[in-house]
Parts: sequence; structure tokens; C-alpha cells
Amino acid sequence: MQKTSSSTKLPSTTFSEIAAFVRELYASPEAFIPLHAPVFLGNEKKYLAETIDSTFVSSVGAFVNRFEEMMADITGARYAVAVVNGTAALHVALKMVGVSQNDEVLSQALTFVATANAISYEKAIPHFIDVDADTLGLSPRALLHRLEAVAELRNGACYNRETGRRIAACVPMHTFGLPARIEEIVAICERYHIPVVEDAAESLGSYVGERHTGTFGRVGTFSFNGNKTVTCGGGGALVTNDEQVAKRAKHLTTPAKPPHRWEYVHDQIGYNYRLPNLNAALACAQLEQLEHYLANKRATAQRYAEFFRDVADIEWIGEPENTRSNYWLNAIRLAARDERDRFLTYTNDAGVMTRPIWKLLNDLPMFRDCPRGDLSVARRLEDTIVNLPSSVRP
Ligand SMILES: *Cc1c(COP(=O)(O)O)cnc(C)c1O
Repeated sequence: MQKTSSSTKLPSTTFSEIAAFVRELYASPEAFIPLHAPVFLGNEKKYLAETIDSTFVSSVGAFVNRFEEMMADITGARYAVAVVNGTAALHVALKMVGVSQNDEVLSQALTFVATANAISYEKAIPHFIDVDADTLGLSPRALLHRLEAVAELRNGACYNRETGRRIAACVPMHTFGLPARIEEIVAICERYHIPVVEDAAESLGSYVGERHTGTFGRVGTFSFNGNKTVTCGGGGALVTNDEQVAKRAKHLTTPAKPPHRWEYVHDQIGYNYRLPNLNAALACAQLEQLEHYLANKRATAQRYAEFFRDVADIEWIGEPENTRSNYWLNAIRLAARDERDRFLTYTNDAGVMTRPIWKLLNDLPMFRDCPRGDLSVARRLEDTIVNLPSSVRP
């Protein structure tokens, strides 16, 4: 459904119509409309008060266990481990699949910086791959193309022939909740003996077929930061079907203290990545409303889809076939970069928050020298994709 684009200039009446439409959507004729604000409609205050009354606000408490059970239940994964944020979840997930110093980790150039930061925490090196234009996620075709060009298998492990380094993992990300072609990605990685860690930070409630994102790779990670579909202030989770991975992740993040009534014995360098019970309480109350949030966001996406159907030169990006997006953030594609900049200026001036997609990570100073494949799709998307206000509506 790609609309063709000449070098047309969208009239600013179109921009004002878009801004007016968003204001109508959010029943907000004047106030600033943020990109994504949390809503607290359920048991949040009740659970927080319970937590405070119990005095168990910190690293021990019933809500942490309940949160983990809820996450396993929602995603269909056997195990979930709560951690302090999504970046920590990624960091631990990479450790769980054996990433270590001087390894390379394949990921997409077009993602939030936390994906590559977590790789760097292990002194590993991100290796950037292109994305697909429709899913905005890691492209299996680009991945395979790159592996065919540089990869070789030695002693059951994958190496980059050009750098001599081991390719120790692949981290696809489900951009804005739109599921990536994860089954194809996993199949390619299996052939090359590369474990997959799914960065599902943005895709709680997104499915491929009947299966929840984050459960295709060996480990999946989620974020509950303030701008995500479900928030608990700050929080994260790993999900996995591997009991050993779940146990090791819990151990490493709690931090590496075998349970004992009074002894302080630590058997390895651990990380204080525990999720406080106070945050877990908020997370549980929010997860109880996930179905409502998803239905609400789907209705919003539908409204945007209908609106943009009649707008020339702007394409609203819908969920790929056989997938269900959580529509965390709605995204549109404009004709060209200068068009995008005019759109961003107009809407933000009008008090309707819009935001460009991320800069490609390989352009950031700390990742400039990282290996990469051809990134022409990502480059095109970087110039033309914009997010629209997508909070749960009143
Ligand atoms: C939000 C996000 C993270 C990190 O989550 P935090 O909880 O903020 O640490 C990681 N990856 C992606 C793609 C994200 O959007």
C-alpha cells in the first residue's frame, strides 16, 4: 500500500487537519498532547498503599512474585524474572546466552540506544543490520545476506571472517510494537548457531500468530518505563522457557546470594538489578488493565488508519500480516526529510507532540566504528518516520 511520492509539498492545511484530528481523538481542544502518557485507572493506589502498610517496599515482597507470574501468564513463557529496568533485562539476557568481551552481537541499526548499550556493558561489539520497511524491525533477508558475506562456522560457533570475532548473539527488536519477522530470524540464526535475544521492550501485547513476542528467542526482555504500554515507574522483565536460564538470571540479579536464613555468601559478582516491591505493586495493577489498554490502543490505531487513508503522501504503518501489534506508538511515513521536519515543527508548535524515529545507532559517536551491513532501508526510514500521540484515551 505504498503511496507514491513526487517532490510534492504537503500544504500546511493538511498539517493543521492532522493536529485537529489528534486533538479530537484525545478530546483535548487546547492542552499539550504528549506522545505517550501513563494512565492509572485500576488498583494502583490500593496496591501501593498495601505495600507501604506492609513495610515491604524494597527487594522482598509478594508483588514481585505476582508480577513474575503475571508476566509468564501473559506471554505464555514458562518463566519470568523481574528486574529494575529493560536495559538491565537485556544486559542479563545477553550474559545468559554467553555473550562476553570482544564478541559481536548482531542487531538493528534502527532501534533505541539501550539495545546497543546493553551489548556494550559486556564489552561486546554491536554489529548493525538493516531493517524491513514494513515491520521496521530486523530484516531476515539483510541478516542472511550479511551472514553469507562474513560468517563462518568453526567448532559449532559462528565467527565474523573479517574481524575474527565470534558472533555470539542476535538481538532483533519489535519496533513500536510491530512484530518483526521473528520466525525467519530465529530460523536463520539457528542455522548459524547464533542464540536470539528478543528486545520486546516495546511489544508487550504484540503477537505473531498466537504466540507472544519475546518468546521466540532463547530469552525475551521487556521494559516498564514511564513511556511504555504498561509502566511501573521503572521496571523490566526477562522471559524464557529455559529453567536454567531463569534460575541463573534470578540468581545473578538478586545478587548472587544462595538463599540462607542469615549467611551472607555470594558465589559470583552479582548485579543489584532487583525490582523493588513498590514498583512491582504498580506493575501488577497496570498489567491487570493490559487487555483494556490494548483494545483502547487498537481503536486509536484504527482511527489513525482511517484518517490517513485519505491523506496523500503520508502512509500510516499498520501491523504486518499474521501479526497483532500492541500499537504502542503509531507511526507514519512522510515523503521526504524536509517534509518530515516541517511536520515536526508544525505539530509541536501546535502543542501536539510528535517525534522522529531514532538516529541510526552507527551514527552515534560510541558506535561509529562498529561493523555493519548495508543499511539503506534504515537510512530511508530514519529520514521519514514520525510517531504520533498514542496514549490510552479517556
Ligand atoms: C524502552 C526500551 C528499552 C529499555 O528500557 P528501560 O526500561 O528504559 O531501560 C530497551 N530497548 C528498547 C527498544 C526500548 O524501547
